[in-house]
Formats: sequence, C-alpha cells, structure tokens
Amino acid sequence: MDVKNVGIVGAGTMGNGIAHVFAQSNFQVVLVDVKQEFLDRATATIQKNLGRMVEKQKITKEVMDAALGNIKTSLKLEDVAKSGIVVEAIIEDAQAKKDIFKVLDAKCPPETILASNTSSISITELAAVTKRPEKFIGMHFMNPVPMMQLVEIIRGIATDDETFKTVFDLSAKVGKTPVEVNDYPGFISNRVLMPMINEAVFALMQGVGTKEAIDTVMKLGMNHPMGPLQLADLIGLDVCLDIMEVLYSGFSDSKYRPCPLLRKMVAAGYLGRKTKKGFYDYS
Ligand code: NAD
Repeated sequence: MDVKNVGIVGAGTMGNGIAHVFAQSNFQVVLVDVKQEFLDRATATIQKNLGRMVEKQKITKEVMDAALGNIKTSLKLEDVAKSGIVVEAIIEDAQAKKDIFKVLDAKCPPETILASNTSSISITELAAVTKRPEKFIGMHFMNPVPMMQLVEIIRGIATDDETFKTVFDLSAKVGKTPVEVNDYPGFISNRVLMPMINEAVFALMQGVGTKEAIDTVMKLGMNHPMGPLQLADLIGLDVCLDIMEVLYSGFSDSKYRPCPLLRKMVAAGYLGRKTKKGFYDYS
C-alpha cells in the first residue's frame, strides 16, 4: 500500500517529532490535539528543530519551508480520516488510547492502517477494540524522534503481512531503521532497558555503590553514553516504574518486581529532571 497522507493524534513530545520526520520526507501530515495551544507549541517546536538543522547545514532552508508547508494542524479527530495511516501518540493510558481507536476505526475507511506509538501497552489489546486488528500495528519511535534512528515495528497477534510491510517500508522512507518485534510486554527496548535501570536502583538501595559509582561503571565499563540512574532521571522515574509494573504483571514473574526504592522515590514526587529531583539534584 502506498501511503502519502499521515494522521498523527497527540502533538506532545513524540507527536511533534513524528510529524517533523514525516513532513521532512514529503508526506502530507495532519496533526491533531485537544487544545490549540498544544498545536501551536508543537508547530513552534518543529520550526525550532528544523531551524537548528538548517543552521547545522543538515538540510536546506527550502527543505525546512517545504516540511512546514506539509503539516496541517486540527482539533478535529475526523480530519485524519483521509490518511493512509494514523499514528496515535497521546498519553500512555490504555483506556484513553482505546477511546481514540474506537473513534478512528469508525471514521477511517477500512484500508487505513492504525498505529500506536505506545511504549508499553499491548498492541494486541489496543487492536482488539477495532474491527480491523489485521490493520493495526505498533510504531514505537524513540525520543527525540528527529535524532533517533530506531523504530520498533510491533506486530499484534492479528497484524497481517501487508500492514507490517507497509509500515516497515514507511519507516525506512522517513530515514529510520525499523526493527521487527512481536507483541510481548515491553517489546524489545523496554524489556531490556528497564530491568537494567531497576537493577541499578537495587544496587543503590543495597549500598553496592554510590549513584556516581553505579553510573561510572556503566559509562566507562560498558561504554554506555550515560549511566542508568542518570538515564532514569531523564526518562522520568514514574515512567520507569509504570513500565516495570507492565513487565511484572505481564509476565507474572518476580524477576521484574519494581525496586522498593524506585517506588519510594515516585511516592515522594522525586521523578527526575522534570521535578528537578531524582537520583540527582537539578535545582
Ligand atoms: P506528551 O504528554 O508529551 O503528549 C501527549 C499529547 O497527547 C498531549 O499534547 C495531549 O494534549 C495529547 N492528547 C491527550 N489526549 C488526547 C486526545 N484524546 N486526542 C488528541 N490528543 C490528545 O506524551 P509523549 O511523551 O509525547 O508520549 C506519547 C506516547 O508516546 C505515549 O504513549 C508514550 O508512552 C509514547 N512514547 C513516549 C516516549 C518519550 O520518551 N516521551 C518515547 C517513546 C514512546
């Protein structure tokens, strides 16, 4: 299937990045959110990020102007109905996503592919609220979307081969490297990353080393660009805890139990950079 029009629902951190990469690759994009101020903020962010690319001579001013011209914004969900694919990037809340997909399923023609950028919710479960589970797929971009190469393409239990191939090829067309993943809790990225972060928090809780020691071991010893505790602060400790809960309940396996110190920090409101306090102090 040849996709030319892309609908994106949710214009936050991920949605504006996804709009940016599609628009830069000459797709016609309709970006939807619930408030005009969120759409304005998204447009300003895309403009700023494209502007930086022009300054660094990664793209020309003409490419930037064309990309901005390829994006329309809207407050009406039905405005994505003419898209070949709709990528959902709203808040990580299963019920909110299901509500959106029920509406999209009713408004979009049967050939439209529905995709979710969820980090942790089952693609199979989201697909099940639609009448087109074979045309439903996970398209998990990484943050920041314009910079990060990877897209996990997650097949739900019913995703058909044509949908998979279309979305896999589409990801390559926007300059990304797609990786095929089957739908299990945490996919590949968070299945491997979050237990490592969780284990680093256990090591801190048990006094195996200081936070600096743990991060230094992983940076200098394993060549990671940042330590796991620094990374947890960047991602948000609440997000890390939520994903550990998904792994823990999804596999019913105690090896995924969230570290009590992680729970305690989240309960205290120490969520990392966004609250200026996590494992490190950002005030
Ligand atoms: P965000 O909070 O920055 O943005 C979410 C946007 O969705 C907001 O602008 C909000 O107004 C909008 N929204 C909420 N309900 C809506 C509705 N009913 N209709 C239209 N818009 C609605 O969130 P984010 O960080 O961009 O995350 C979006 C999704 O991407 C989540 O599923 C998240 O798990 C996933 N994800 C996030 C990251 C990350 O690092 N932030 C990485 C990969 C995947």
